[in-house]
Amino acid sequence: LLEIDNIRKHYGSFEVISGLSLDVREHEVICLIGPSGCGKSTLLRCVNRLEEISAGEIRIHGDRITGEGVDLDRLRRDIGIVFQGYNLFPHMTVLENTLLAPTRVLGLSRREATEKALGFLDRIGLAHKANAYPDSLSGGQQQRVAIVRALMMDPMLLLLDEITSALDPELVSEVLDIVRDLAAGGMTMILATHEMGFAREVADRICFLQAGNIYEQGPPAQVFGDPQGERTQAFLSSLK
Ligand code: ATP
Ligand code: MG
Repeated sequence: LLEIDNIRKHYGSFEVISGLSLDVREHEVICLIGPSGCGKSTLLRCVNRLEEISAGEIRIHGDRITGEGVDLDRLRRDIGIVFQGYNLFPHMTVLENTLLAPTRVLGLSRREATEKALGFLDRIGLAHKANAYPDSLSGGQQQRVAIVRALMMDPMLLLLDEITSALDPELVSEVLDIVRDLAAGGMTMILATHEMGFAREVADRICFLQAGNIYEQGPPAQVFGDPQGERTQAFLSSLK
């Protein structure tokens, strides 16, 4: 589905991503882990072109999505991204927040989009909040709405950046439940996370990043249970 081919990203003379390659298969769930500043967020932002790479290439189904001449609206329809801190529009209700993009960008009628949104909201147990404003929702509820907003575009790939890190511990599990459901439904996802327990449970593959490259990768049982690299071992034991 997604091929990241030897990409580099500089901020000035500082190389944040240094020759990183990663192939993501359809329905695969990949968790990016690693120390703060290793480049997890930057990598996700490069994939949907919120950041421009300095070298290399990224392809979706074989089509290049980096460089000139790429339809960015189309790209961002195909690749959803949800950040820590949800970013819902405060002056719009939950429902309005979810309708905005699909009515404007996909050209869905308000009725079609509403039906779809209510279906998603129902699935995550928030249909009764459809007409509420974001600030009357808990952080976990807001984060779930932000995920619904991304799902409204029927993305082929979902990028999730630390979606639980702004939440109180008791709210984390309700957001993780949704991710688990999406994974079970076959959604292809790349997550950056500090939640190792969750990564272990939901990921098909763990990529440990170190200084802008993948230092070690493998199935969760292997990376967490029997890490091969010295750096991976040091990182994981620093969390205990
Ligand atoms: P965290 O776990 O803390 O979220 P991360 O792995 O997501 O970290 P990034 O946010 O990708 O790390 O940052 C990678 C490096 O790039 C860091 O050293 C950061 O300081 C640097 N960086 C990020 N954005 C910019 C920017 N706009 N300008 C300059 N440097 C930046
Ligand atoms: Mg980050």
